[in-house]
Amino acid sequence: MITIPAHSHNYKQANRTKKDIQWIVIHDAEAKSAMGVANYFQNPKLAKPVSSHFVVGEEWGSFNPLVIRCVEDKDIAYTQGFANDWCLSIELQGFASYSDSDWWDKRNDTLYAAAMVVSYWSRKYEIPISLLTDSEMGLMGPTHRGITTHAAITKAFNIPGGHVDPGPNFPLEKFLQMCRDVKELPEEYQL
Ligand SMILES: [Zn+2]
Repeated sequence: MITIPAHSHNYKQANRTKKDIQWIVIHDAEAKSAMGVANYFQNPKLAKPVSSHFVVGEEWGSFNPLVIRCVEDKDIAYTQGFANDWCLSIELQGFASYSDSDWWDKRNDTLYAAAMVVSYWSRKYEIPISLLTDSEMGLMGPTHRGITTHAAITKAFNIPGGHVDPGPNFPLEKFLQMCRDVKELPEEYQL
């Protein structure tokens, strides 16, 4: 895990604790370089400030999982609009147009890097590794703890022109099982 802190322009400082953090939100970055995305979050002049707690991917030209911390969990990353206050967000290097096989076969290391982060969050904040239904997401603020995607938020809240990542073919069920199967986290993830 490496840290490339986002510029303070691109997130909101806060003092969130376990009770404030309810959802883990899966995104894809629409980019082929996790490092490039993390560097983008460092730009103090973005017209639309944006960030994510983590960006994961693979080093270009290698298959080493790359895990980049950009925003502290206690702070509020600008990743999914109105829901930011109670979310942890993770951006996966890749594209919403990927097929199931593009993700599962060709980007399995990226998925595994994300699974380690999700497992870490699940243990630390007692968030179950299960998908939130539309009704569980609630219209009056969060009522359940769990995992969702940017696309599911767009759908549940009927956000016009909203984001559809990580895409219709993202192997969500297989990914969640991968998160549940993480038995032991590397030392740097110890709680
Ligand atoms: Zn997104």
